[in-house]
Amino acid sequence: MHDPISAASPDTAADDLARAVDALAGRRVAVLTGAGVSTDSGIPDYRGAGAPVRTPMTAQQFLSNDDARRRYWVGSHLGWRAFAAARPNDGHRALADLERSGIVTGIVTQNVDGLHLRAGSRRVVELHGTMRRVFCTHCGQVFDRRDLAARVEHDNPWITVPENVELGPDGDVLPATSDGFVIPACSVCGGMLKPDVVFFGEFVPVAKFAEAEQLVRTSDALLIAGSSLVVNSGVRLVERARRRRVPVVIVNRGATKSDVKATVKIDAGASEVLRALAETLPLRAASQ
Ligand SMILES: [Zn+2]
Repeated sequence: MHDPISAASPDTAADDLARAVDALAGRRVAVLTGAGVSTDSGIPDYRGAGAPVRTPMTAQQFLSNDDARRRYWVGSHLGWRAFAAARPNDGHRALADLERSGIVTGIVTQNVDGLHLRAGSRRVVELHGTMRRVFCTHCGQVFDRRDLAARVEHDNPWITVPENVELGPDGDVLPATSDGFVIPACSVCGGMLKPDVVFFGEFVPVAKFAEAEQLVRTSDALLIAGSSLVVNSGVRLVERARRRRVPVVIVNRGATKSDVKATVKIDAGASEVLRALAETLPLRAASQ
């Protein structure tokens, strides 16, 4: 069998993987995921939660300024099209497999792309909301993003022509392209629509964080994949796990804010490590 991890120093990576398996074996594992699990699906690792523009927009800017809202919707619409075209990768599938085999208790994700659900995971707490839904800030009516996207393209046919939409190097949309954009409004009351995602600077809803905490509390290990833990809610979940003295395993390319607190840190891509865990942990569980 080939080594699932091809890092610069394969021996170290294999050792880290073995230590992670030791730490997690025989335990019920809660998982926290970030943008790094979706990069293999072609979704860039944007730092802002849910905002597919390079400079994250605050909810305040979105709600108070027509130009900002227009720019947001152009970026968000194009981002949604990219998300809708993306497919779950092997990392998403490995986590769904681990849940089916009774090892993973559920996933808390910072991603808004919905790929865990599409890969077959059942218990998913979407901390930062989801791109799939849009709601009316006035009457609360919820809309399916696909229906709304069809309306956006009907009202702004130029947006479907790639030459008309100038993208920056990181997928950000240049502001000039939003001139003349017709902002979608609620078809029930005419009110302002907002994607069901947590904007930069907004707090994760209390009930949503409580759900995430509950998952960590009822598990006896925490596995973090593809998150550099710059988001406060992620750091707080690591703290909860640490206080309960359960193992914390971090899989991420590059440093994270909580590396020193991890039982094991694997510096590698999420997909290959998660697949390796999905192949190894059930065997360990069977032999115990
Ligand atoms: Zn409404």
